[in-house]
Amino acid sequence: MTEITLDNDLVSHDIIVIGAGLAGLRAAIEIHDMGMNVAVISKVHPIRSHSGAAQGGINASLGSDDSWEAHAFDTIKGSDYLADQDTVEVLCKEAPERVIEMENWGCNFSRRENGRVAQRPFGGAGFPRTCFAGDRTGHNLLHTLYEQVIKRNIRIYSEWFVTKLLVGKGRCLGCVAMNMADSKIVAFRSEATILATGGYGRIYQRSTNAIINRGHGISLAYNAGVPLEDMEFVQFHPTTLFGTNILITEGARGEGGYLLNKDNERFMERYAKDTMELAPRDIVARAIQKEVDEGRGFPGGFVHLDLRHLGKDRIDKRLAGIRQISVDFAGIDPVKKPIPVQPGQHYSMGGVSSDINGRTPMTGLYAIGECACISVHGANRLGGNSLLDTVVFGRRAGAAAVEHVRLSGREDEDVSLDVSGKMKRDEEKEIGDLMTGEGESFATIRDELQSVMQQYAGIFRNRQGLEHALEEISKLKKRASKLKVKSRVKVFNLELMNALELKGMLELGHVIIMGALAREESRGAHYRTDHLERDDENWLKHTLAYKDEEPRLEYKAVNIGMFQPQKREY
Ligand SMILES: Cc1cc2nc3c(=O)[nH]c(=O)nc-3n(C[C@H](O)[C@H](O)[C@H](O)COP(=O)(O)OP(=O)(O)OC[C@H]3O[C@@H](n4cnc5c(N)ncnc54)[C@H](O)[C@@H]3O)c2cc1C
Repeated sequence: MTEITLDNDLVSHDIIVIGAGLAGLRAAIEIHDMGMNVAVISKVHPIRSHSGAAQGGINASLGSDDSWEAHAFDTIKGSDYLADQDTVEVLCKEAPERVIEMENWGCNFSRRENGRVAQRPFGGAGFPRTCFAGDRTGHNLLHTLYEQVIKRNIRIYSEWFVTKLLVGKGRCLGCVAMNMADSKIVAFRSEATILATGGYGRIYQRSTNAIINRGHGISLAYNAGVPLEDMEFVQFHPTTLFGTNILITEGARGEGGYLLNKDNERFMERYAKDTMELAPRDIVARAIQKEVDEGRGFPGGFVHLDLRHLGKDRIDKRLAGIRQISVDFAGIDPVKKPIPVQPGQHYSMGGVSSDINGRTPMTGLYAIGECACISVHGANRLGGNSLLDTVVFGRRAGAAAVEHVRLSGREDEDVSLDVSGKMKRDEEKEIGDLMTGEGESFATIRDELQSVMQQYAGIFRNRQGLEHALEEISKLKKRASKLKVKSRVKVFNLELMNALELKGMLELGHVIIMGALAREESRGAHYRTDHLERDDENWLKHTLAYKDEEPRLEYKAVNIGMFQPQKREY
C-alpha cells in the first residue's frame, strides 16, 4: 500500500509510528527498509525529542574480555531481579550489532588511542561498557538516525499532536491527531501503530526530563484499555544540578568524580563500599537523600560532586557539556569548584506492557522505548541501557509490525472508516467543550500534582503518605474534569495541549501511587520505609494496571532464566 490521502480529514499509511525519538526513528527505518509505507508523527521536531538530551552513553559488550552474559548479569542484578530475563538476553546479545550499526551510519563516538570506540565505566556495570560521544551521546545518535530517515524520504508529520488511538473490534486502527499549526483534527488510519512517545518525568516537581515528557502516549494506551506494567518503579537520578535539576551525567562519576557531604566525607563508603560512586542509581540516590535528611548535606538540600582532580583537559575532552551546564545554570566552573547536586526524577521503568517484539496485548498496537515496559530494566535501570533499549527494540518492533501487516491484510476497512469518522468527531466535540465556558486552568492542578508526586511517591515512600496522595489525586481528577482552556487561538494553542496532557498525567500519577501502595516491599527504585526488605516470596512479580474508576491491579510472573535471584550487594 502506498500513502493515500483519502480526503483532508483522513490520512492512511501502512504503519504509523507515534514519536520521533530514537525508538520511533529506528522503528521507522526498519519498516521502510522492509518495503512498507511508514509515517512518523511527533509533537516536536524530531531532533527536539528528549533522546537528544542523553549525555553519558550507550552500553554494548564490545571489549574482548567482556561478554553479553556479563552485561545480562549486571542488568538483571541492577533490576533487582524484576527484569524478564528473556528480553534482557535479547537486549545484551543484540547490543554490539546495533551500536556498530550506529557507528557505520555516522555516529561520531569518542575513540581510544588505537582508534577503537572508547567505553567508560557506568554504575552497576562490572566492566567499562558504555560507549559515548563526549557527554552528548544522545544528540549524536539522534542526529545520525534523523539523517538516515531524511535519506530514505520517510514522511514525518512534525508538530502534530496525537490525542487518541483509534480502536475498533479490539484492534488498533491508527490514531487521531491535531495539526498544531492550525488545530485541525485528522484521523490517521494504519494497519499497525507503534507508540514511541517517551517518559512521563514531568509529573514530578524535580525532573531531568524535557518539559515535553508528560507520558501522553502511555495514557493513550491506558485509556484504550491496554495495561500498564510496573509503573511504581520510577528512577531518581542521583546527580541533578541543584536549582534546575538539569542532569549531571553518571559519566562524570564514571570519569572519576567523587561525591562529598558538607563534612567533606566521601560518604558512599557507608552505602556501597566496593563500588562507591558507581553503585546503581537507586542506591546512590537514596544515599544522597539520606545524607541530606540526616543533616550532612548543604543548606537547601544538596551534596557536592567534585571533578577538580580530573583536571581541565580531561573535563574539556570528556565532560564539556557538563562544564558548560554548570557554568551557565549554576555559575560554577567544575574545573575550580565542586558541582552542587541533588537527586531528581529521571526515568520511567514502567510503561505500556509489551513483549520481546514490542507487541502490546492489543492487536495492531506496539510500544517501544521509554513509554514501554518490555521489561528489560525491572525495578531499576542501569545507565546506558535505555539508549540501547530504544534501538534494539525499535528495530525489532518495526520488523514485527511489518510481519503483522503482511499476515493480517486489510480486512477491516469498513470498520476502520466508521471508527475514524466517529472518533474524529468525538475528539472535535471534546476539544470544543474544553474551549467553551469558564473553569479552572490546567496550571494550578498540574503544580499540585507535581508536588504530591514529589512528596509522597518519591525516593522514600510509606503507606500513610501514599494513602494521602491517593486522596489528593482523586480530588485533582475531579477538578480536572471541569477545567477549561481560556485561549481560543487556533495556531499553536499550547494551553489546549497542556490541558489535554494534564488529564493523562493525572491517570499516570494515580497508577503509580496505587502500584506503590500495593507493593509492600522494597525493590530497586521502589523503597518503602515501612517495608524495608525485598520480598521474593510475595512480590517477585510484575504489576499490571488496567483502566477503571480506580486503576485495577493484576500481577504477572517474572521470566527467570540463567540467573536466580540473589541478595543484591555492591
Ligand atoms: C537528560 C537525560 C539524559 C539521559 N542520558 C541517558 C544516557 O546517557 N544513556 C541512556 O541509556 N539513557 C539516557 N537517558 C534516557 C534516554 O535518553 C531515554 O529513555 C530515551 O532516549 C527515550 O527515547 P524514546 O525514543 O523512547 O523517547 P523520546 O526521545 O523521549 O521521544 C518521544 C517522542 O514522542 C513524541 N510524542 C510524545 N507524545 C506525543 C503525542 N501525544 N503526539 C505526538 N508525538 C508525541 C515526542 O514528540 C518525541 O518525538 C537520559 C534521559 C534524560 C532525560
